[in-house]
Amino acid sequence: LVRLRQRLAGSQGGLGRGLLALLSRDRLDEDTWEDIEDTLLTADIGVAPTQELVDRLRARMRAEGGADARAVLREELLTLVDPTMDRSLRISGEDGNPGIVLVVGVNGAGKTTTVGKIARILVAEDRSVVLGAADTFRAAAVEQLSTWGERVGVDTIKGEEGADPASVAFRAVEEGRRTGVDTVIVDTAGRLQNKQGLMDELGKVKRVIEKQAPVTEVLLVLDATTGQNGLIQARVFSEAVAVTGIVLTKLDGSAKGGIVVAVQRELGVPVKLVGLGEGADDLAPFDSGAFVDALLG
Ligand code: GDP
Repeated sequence: LVRLRQRLAGSQGGLGRGLLALLSRDRLDEDTWEDIEDTLLTADIGVAPTQELVDRLRARMRAEGGADARAVLREELLTLVDPTMDRSLRISGEDGNPGIVLVVGVNGAGKTTTVGKIARILVAEDRSVVLGAADTFRAAAVEQLSTWGERVGVDTIKGEEGADPASVAFRAVEEGRRTGVDTVIVDTAGRLQNKQGLMDELGKVKRVIEKQAPVTEVLLVLDATTGQNGLIQARVFSEAVAVTGIVLTKLDGSAKGGIVVAVQRELGVPVKLVGLGEGADDLAPFDSGAFVDALLG
């Protein structure tokens, strides 16, 4: 965890340090406020939250003449990230059913890797897991998930290439219930070319799973390095299926941590996990305080 924090601080420190340097100037003139605004926009915080933050910072720095810029900035950034959101993962089911985690997102965002990492964390906590490889469109994706399954020591339910994703998801849940596992994690296809096709497919996967047991968590995996593009994807996926949590991957490779704020606003659901590397251990629960501290360097 310490290592992950350091990695987060390494990639995100620039934003907070830059803001802090600006806010600590002797005179906070219009040019300085514009620089602050630019810094926030460049970090992908988004237009509306940037405006809000700048207004609040202005008001507070004026009212609290000689205020501790770092303390003010920390408080305001924290408010923006919203520490009150419930970020717990729904990995347990009710009435003897397993928890069912559906993982969605565009190809390349890091879905399969994230499924593997989550499975590893659950297994380390002595929970039993079954994986469902419902990205049947790409044989490589099925292979990749099986490899993760073997590595972590859990079964992966697969179909033939081109099989109906919903039927694979159904079988994974069936197997999970039969063997009484704690959690079933279902990886899905993320073809965005056709919005209607995506909506139909994800809708069907969820409906078919829920013939057996409720889906307890729908995680949308987003690549932090795609910036505003990621927001457009987020919108499409959240229309296709009711997202309950966001996983922001590749935060190790992006200095644009502001996307956390932007995507939470956009979807009204919390960032629950962050990916900080390609390795099996490089997934961490999102902690708003630690995140803001990493921003401030
Ligand atoms: P999928 O198509 O959405 O299933 O994406 P994959 O899981 O195959 O991931 C795509 C690429 O992103 C792979 O090379 C992963 O190793 C890499 N990746 C996934 N998560 C992270 C992360 O948090 N940080 C970094 N640096 N790379 C990641």
